[in-house]
Amino acid sequence: MKTRKNINANANPVKRLPQRTCIACRKVSAKRDLVRIVKTKDEGLAVDTTGKKSGRGYYLCNSRGCWESILKSNHLEHVIHTALTQQDYQRLKEYAEGIQQE
Ligand SMILES: [Zn+2]
Repeated sequence: MKTRKNINANANPVKRLPQRTCIACRKVSAKRDLVRIVKTKDEGLAVDTTGKKSGRGYYLCNSRGCWESILKSNHLEHVIHTALTQQDYQRLKEYAEGIQQE
């Protein structure tokens, strides 16, 4: 009886880092290179620089272009299915303005 499967056929020798997709440009990057935005119950949208806040997370490149593109044209509201409050918007805009342009 031949029941043994060839487990080596699909083995991936490279350990993959967790990856996420930027909600602005749809580029897939390592999670640690992206900035997490969290939809929290109490504070609305928060930029999660520690990666530890709980809530539904969204990821964005650490590039001003991506941030500006989601803040324009209500793209972000579309993605998160929630209307941004003035505070949310302000918070994200401030973060975007603090991103170093390369
Ligand atoms: Zn991006």
